[in-house]
Amino acid sequence: MQTQFTDAARERPAIREADRILRTCVHCGFCNATCPTYQLLGDERDGPRGRIYLIKELLESDAGDDQVTRETQLHLDRCLTCRNCETTCPSGVEYHKLLDIGRAEVDRRVGRTPRERALRLGLRTALAEPRRFQALLALGQTFRPLAPAALRDKIPPRSAPRRARPAPSVTPARC
Ligand code: SF4
Ligand code: SF4
Repeated sequence: MQTQFTDAARERPAIREADRILRTCVHCGFCNATCPTYQLLGDERDGPRGRIYLIKELLESDAGDDQVTRETQLHLDRCLTCRNCETTCPSGVEYHKLLDIGRAEVDRRVGRTPRERALRLGLRTALAEPRRFQALLALGQTFRPLAPAALRDKIPPRSAPRRARPAPSVTPARC
């Protein structure tokens, strides 16, 4: 993929790294076939190839339109960072590194609202620590019947306690 960074932009190590990665992409689109968000949403901008284009456009422009940058932020946020796309890329594009650069740049330009910051902090705090997550889940399951319907649907009900495995009815023959 051809890039058009200015000399001034190339002074930044992150841009030089992004440039190197972008040039390895031949935009064949094989990666889209293994991307869960592309499979689910069917939007080119929610697949790896589209996100690579969005990041390229973002980094090549010095100051983007805020609305456009917000849309780029949304499509980059939807990426699960699962790196499935890298397994089917014939050119060995280091997508995850490019994604990190793109996300940092987009956040630098348009930032996050206080609500988004609080939500992200909450998710990082709750989901990254299994014991904390289990405690929150147990609390949610206890109060599930009192929760509004939209929230109730998102909390899985308690599963029935495991039963003991039945004893084998036939003793295996000895060889
Ligand atoms: S498979 Fe690799 S080379 Fe092809 S579009 Fe995707 S990232 Fe680019
Ligand atoms: S990291 Fe996962 S979700 Fe993101 S573009 Fe690649 S395959 Fe899709």
